[in-house]
Amino acid sequence: MAEIINGKEVAARVKAEVRNEVLRLKEKGIDTGLAVVIVGNDPASRVYVNSKKKACEEVGINSYEYALPEETTQDELLKLVGELNADERVDGILVQLPLPKHIDENAIINAISPQKDVDAFHPFNVGRIMIGEYNFLPCTPAGVMELIKSAGIELSGKDCVVIGRSNIVGKPMAMLLLHKNATVTICHSKTRNLKEICSKADVVVAAVGRANFVTADMVKDGAVVIDVGINRLPDGKLCGDVDFEGVKEKAGYITPVPGGVGPMTIAMLMKNTLASSKLKAGIKD
Ligand code: NDP
Repeated sequence: MAEIINGKEVAARVKAEVRNEVLRLKEKGIDTGLAVVIVGNDPASRVYVNSKKKACEEVGINSYEYALPEETTQDELLKLVGELNADERVDGILVQLPLPKHIDENAIINAISPQKDVDAFHPFNVGRIMIGEYNFLPCTPAGVMELIKSAGIELSGKDCVVIGRSNIVGKPMAMLLLHKNATVTICHSKTRNLKEICSKADVVVAAVGRANFVTADMVKDGAVVIDVGINRLPDGKLCGDVDFEGVKEKAGYITPVPGGVGPMTIAMLMKNTLASSKLKAGIKD
């Protein structure tokens, strides 16, 4: 029976640490601010934006919301990003994805100042992650690493499998595990013997976007199973990429959905925004 890694608890600890630091900065007259930009009326995006604003309130970060209509043009959005890049109140800029189809997401990501890119999606920051010299880590993979650390799991020399190769989750996830000296395999939709590869892994990180994709027969006894997936079932319930009930009987550690990686993503966004504020102020510790 697996030990359940409680993302809510770990996220609460990370946020409490951020809050202490934010208050310390305030005492020095330094305010920390996050601009949150949402375009259109996607209900899931609205939920995410609201959670991010709520987290800002919890940790004492000022949040500035820019809710733009669906018909906003790419040029209008680029203009706003330019203004936020120059805005002294703003330490982090978060443009909620996905954007409406007529806007090129890469053009927007590339326009965000790398110093304010608290999602760490800008090619400059992606490159820095590759060489292991970074100011910001992408929030979801960084949250996964924090969960693994919180459970006292040693990664050096371990066989880790990441299922999914997106720029946002899978690829940076693999890189962070590699930085911790794990031996990393990345699986994707063209992987031939996925089940065999997974069933040999010490650590499996699932970032596929398919409900119950990872089943108990794909998991080694005692393995660490981290579920990044967020899938909505026809009955409206949320579930991950892992068949939690089946896999928890076999794994050594497992993260639930909800209450696993999700809360960590937001906590790490707060951490990145604080890091940006400190960098701007020239505070190192
Ligand atoms: P993408 O859709 O961008 O990537 C999914 C990846 O899964 C792709 O690399 C794809 O392979 C791979 N894949 C799809 N089907 C299969 C299959 N049958 N076998 C093997 N690999 C497969 O998703 P994201 O990376 O953005 O997100 C993944 C999941 O994580 C989603 O459920 C998302 O909602 C969730 N998520 C959760 C977050 C959190 O805070 N908890 C944050 C971000 C995402 P290929 O490249 O070959 O197409």
